[in-house]
Amino acid sequence: MFRSVLVANRGEIARRIFRTARRMGIETVAVCSDADLEAAHVREADRAVRIGPAPAAESYLSIPDLIAAAVEGGAEAVHPGYGFLSENAAFAEAVQAAGLIWIGPSPDAIRVMGLKDSARERMIAAGVPVTPGWQGDDGAETTLLAAARELGWPVLIKAAAGGGGRGIRRVDDAADFAAALAACRREALGAFGDDRVLLERCIEAPRHIEVQVFGDSQGGLVHLFERDCTLQRRRQKVIEEAPAPGMTAEVREAVCAAALAAARAVDYVGAGTVEFIADARDGLRADRIWFMEMNTRLQVEHPVTEAVTGVDLVEWQFRVAAGEPLPLSQDRIALNGWALEARLCAEVPERGFLPSTGRLEHLFLPEGLRVDSGVEAGDEVGPHYDSLIAKLIAWAPTREGATEALAEACGAVETWPIRTNAAFLARCLDDPDFLAGRIDTGFIGDRLDRLAAAPEPSADLAAAAAAALSALSSDGASAPSHDLAGFRLNAPPREQVRIWCDGQPLLAALDGGPEEADLLDAGETLILFEGGSAFAFSATPPDPEGGAAAGGDGAVSAPLPGKVAAVSVSEGARVLRGDILLVVEAMKMEHGLAAPFDGVVEVLSASVGDQVREGEVLARVRSEAS
Ligand code: ADP
Ligand code: ADP
Ligand code: MG
Repeated sequence: MFRSVLVANRGEIARRIFRTARRMGIETVAVCSDADLEAAHVREADRAVRIGPAPAAESYLSIPDLIAAAVEGGAEAVHPGYGFLSENAAFAEAVQAAGLIWIGPSPDAIRVMGLKDSARERMIAAGVPVTPGWQGDDGAETTLLAAARELGWPVLIKAAAGGGGRGIRRVDDAADFAAALAACRREALGAFGDDRVLLERCIEAPRHIEVQVFGDSQGGLVHLFERDCTLQRRRQKVIEEAPAPGMTAEVREAVCAAALAAARAVDYVGAGTVEFIADARDGLRADRIWFMEMNTRLQVEHPVTEAVTGVDLVEWQFRVAAGEPLPLSQDRIALNGWALEARLCAEVPERGFLPSTGRLEHLFLPEGLRVDSGVEAGDEVGPHYDSLIAKLIAWAPTREGATEALAEACGAVETWPIRTNAAFLARCLDDPDFLAGRIDTGFIGDRLDRLAAAPEPSADLAAAAAAALSALSSDGASAPSHDLAGFRLNAPPREQVRIWCDGQPLLAALDGGPEEADLLDAGETLILFEGGSAFAFSATPPDPEGGAAAGGDGAVSAPLPGKVAAVSVSEGARVLRGDILLVVEAMKMEHGLAAPFDGVVEVLSASVGDQVREGEVLARVRSEAS
């Protein structure tokens, strides 16, 4: 076994890999950008090497800097984690050329599977059932449109080099095809530097089923059963589980055999995932599940597989990379119980999942279940990388038990002033259809209004806040104003006070002392946590400056620091409320900035490629009425 490993990554995955390395007595070498000099993964590694400035392109994506760091840090092996360079064949080659051990499959396997079109061709040749589609060299719009017509609407346009759900566009008829193609190509070029596309028939109301496979360099190859990653938002996974609800022995055998055939076709070594799309409208069926792509790396959701098989997949990666055979044969790998994972992200669901950045002053992550986290209280959550801050993984003998445990854990998350999707996750898990296993990839989208609604404090929480604010007022802070005393028929009158919660006025009963609650005193604001959300209570109305209605003056500003990816209007253009004026790309996502009301674009101060600051005014719309 090698004695030291460099993880060419950051956040929770770097920490998770270090954990296994430490257990196995392998020294850990971290890398970091300037934004991460004090990050948790850096603090806990045996050594850390700075690789460059904050932008990923100049640090976590810089092959020469990473190789230099491995040499400088004395690492014998390199683990790429997921994302960044984990599926980059040139990086694997550079690691090997530097005489280091690459913890991953061969560069050839990465290359074939890294492009969805070449992967589809290889899989068709290997007899793996592949989603009906079109791939080819002639990317002319007319060729693609003809192929789409032949497949039948709706179709998906995908970036050949795609990943992370990026670039994919659904097209419902020929009229929308050209615009969707242009959008897919633009996003693909920006994200992957490659604008080639392929087409697939869009499977309606599908489920995402994937199989964990593992190969060694002696020809050994096993699967570790399936995961269900159907709960997605905009084609990005949100909640994952193993095994898949409703899976039958027959379908499991078929899909696992297809995954092994896929891996065998590229002489796969190491951890990999073969993703399938299933038409499950009549339940899972062996003849309605098709290969979608293979991810030639450790997957974000690998912990659910670990939980139900008892295997440490990172340990297996280390052993296989060091030339050892697979620790278990297929017949010794068994499924035990049920596991679910929720991805905790620093984002605000009720504001279109806008990333939430800044210093994490308060953090409580639940105990009693597996938590893979990238941050600690006091850490900075920056705008440079993706918003995943932790993963919560629950295991129980039954799906019901694991779901309940995970919902409870999500509801117990506390963060401030960073906001998270914890309440949104808990609502997904509490949904009766989810509990019954009635899921498809549209599950979240279909219920978005309810799942992503702004959380409201319970009456009990508001009462606790009112009592605490009253108690504070005796120390000189403003007191909550007494409102109309609560007249209620057939009930004793209760004292009511007006307080503010997240800037909104609220009447709260004052019928008890302050409850025991986690209170954070930020000046005259009390922060209370409930159901995964933070509520900021105050006795006086918020400062009107801060509360000005967004877009009230027609200003359209950048919601966060980023780059202008597209400008769809010019000065003088007449626009309707909701029309997208510009697109800002930040945190690896595209944010469309819409006209706040009907009017004329009076000022347009941004152009494509501009780097913009948070809050920077990029355009201004003048109402035609005024
Ligand atoms: P996995 O396939 O391991 O479940 P995902 O498909 O969720 O991972 O994401 C693939 C890669 O894209 C991950 O390695 C992750 O780092 C990255 N990624 C995660 N979230 C986003 C996002 N919002 N936009 C783009 N890429 C992302
Ligand atoms: P990425 O590499 O970005 O992860 P995938 O090909 O794995 O792209 O697809 C991402 C998601 O998009 C899937 O999990 C699924 O929800 C949806 N999807 C992909 N292909 C299809 C299809 N042919 N029909 C319906 N949905 C699909
Ligand atoms: Mg995928």
